Amino acid sequence: MAALATYACDPAESRGRRYPEAPAPTRTGFQRDRDRVIHSTAFRRLVYKTQVFLNHEGDLFRTRLTHSIEVAQLGRSIARSLSLCEDLVEAIALAHDLGHTPFGHAGQDALHAAMGAASARAVSSEGAEDVVLGFEHNLQSLRVVDELEERYPAFDGLNLSFETREGILKHCSRRNAERLELREPGGVASRFLVGGSPSLEAQLCNLADEIAYNAHDIDDGVRSGLITLEQLEAVDLFESHRCEALHEHPSLVGRRLLFEAIRRMLSAQVYDVIDATRTRLAVEGVQTLDEVRQAPVLVTFSDDMRARSQALKSFLFRNLYRHPQVMETTGRARQIIGDLFQRYLEEPGELPAAYQRPAGQPRAVADYIAGMTDRFAIREHERLFGEVMFP
Ligand code: MG
Repeated sequence: MAALATYACDPAESRGRRYPEAPAPTRTGFQRDRDRVIHSTAFRRLVYKTQVFLNHEGDLFRTRLTHSIEVAQLGRSIARSLSLCEDLVEAIALAHDLGHTPFGHAGQDALHAAMGAASARAVSSEGAEDVVLGFEHNLQSLRVVDELEERYPAFDGLNLSFETREGILKHCSRRNAERLELREPGGVASRFLVGGSPSLEAQLCNLADEIAYNAHDIDDGVRSGLITLEQLEAVDLFESHRCEALHEHPSLVGRRLLFEAIRRMLSAQVYDVIDATRTRLAVEGVQTLDEVRQAPVLVTFSDDMRARSQALKSFLFRNLYRHPQVMETTGRARQIIGDLFQRYLEEPGELPAAYQRPAGQPRAVADYIAGMTDRFAIREHERLFGEVMFP
């Protein structure tokens, strides 16, 4: 392994696991975390979960699994150049979407809304506080690795290192952070209460996530026919690289031109992050991990690339994520999640025994639904409602 920078997360200096374990003979703690994520049940489910397009809409669209692998690839590549810990980046990247519901963001919004509605009905009963906290996918990813995976004899969850868990908890509402802090004082939720930044490896995963989905959503969007190369001419970050590719290869057309433009766009963003981050580290005079945690976010785009990336994001938002065809699909997906939540709450007998609770039933229902793949949720809805939502 290449030498780590002084501000990188060194596995030998890890803040450790919640349940102490002897070190592995051949792997660092972060390599072990990555291996645990890959062998988890939640990881295998990602292949059948929506990124933007539903799993059954086409075999070549990204799923949560291929998205996570692309984030890990970009993350590792940037980490190597900055002498950060590649293994930690990979562990965080592969785990970052484990808590996602079926049907992408539509599913998460519907589950959050359902938990809110349940809280309105249950204000005075036991478990109401838990319901009020709604559903957040970052927090759910942490819940998966901390509590929901059942693989070890001595503890729930995967017992990952602090640094991996910190990276997984990318966002957290104040109320949920307070709740986590009670159980784990000074733990992964502290920075949402007292301020501060996560490790550079965690920061890098956030940016690699954004770089990955901006690029693959162009690819999937064009493949689906919902956006066109002509529309993309208005997006500078893409268009400048398409023109550059055409300049060097004047006969390039179709898919190959699209892929070449995306490839150049990805490289430009990767180089930009490396340069901008090096500059910020130097300007802030950061030398150690402690200083990273005190400093503002340091893994960033340059101002120019930030603006160009933002313009691409807005384009995708307007033209792809809010495309009438996508909206129509997500509308049905929302209904499935809302219907399932309601039914399980009214008739807990429909839930597997492991999810039936004398108290705190809404949270267990949310856990069950969040763990579903797209097609399982569709089938379960058909079973309970006799209605075919996605023929
Ligand atoms: Mg992601």
